[in-house]
Amino acid sequence: MTHAIVPLAFAVAARPGRIAPRVALAGAVLAILPDADVIGFRFGIAYADAWGHRGATHSLMFGTVLAAAVSLAWEEARSKAAFLFLALAAVSHGLLDTLTDGGLGAALWWPFDDARVFAPVAPVRVSPIGAGFFSLRGLETLVSELVWIWLPCFVLLAGSRVVRRAAG
Ligand SMILES: [Zn+2]
Repeated sequence: MTHAIVPLAFAVAARPGRIAPRVALAGAVLAILPDADVIGFRFGIAYADAWGHRGATHSLMFGTVLAAAVSLAWEEARSKAAFLFLALAAVSHGLLDTLTDGGLGAALWWPFDDARVFAPVAPVRVSPIGAGFFSLRGLETLVSELVWIWLPCFVLLAGSRVVRRAAG
């Protein structure tokens, strides 16, 4: 769920009117969408498979192609700024997942390389899948997400406000 805040923060931090509210919402959806890949578990797709959890849907290629498709199909998003924003939103998911400390990394470079990668530093506690969310582990995850993702987003917002005030 934390994934959604990244594009929303960027949309609000951008120049007013640059990203339309509906496009910003679409960005939030694109940022959450890659985790729909967990339905693969039901169909016998293993975590480590190319289309398993954190696989192809978490790649830079998938995110970019998805953003391009939305941008082409949806008139409101048919601008360079909207496409860039949507692509950023979609790939931010896989990038954030590489910062988590558990599970398999994200297949950022698919289809060129199926390897699951982590960032050099992985400060965010991995979110437990399913029922474990409301446990102590879930709470630890929440706290680390607040510190490593929500806090930087608020810093970005505050920073953009300061810059805008100074400029105008
Ligand atoms: Zn994910």
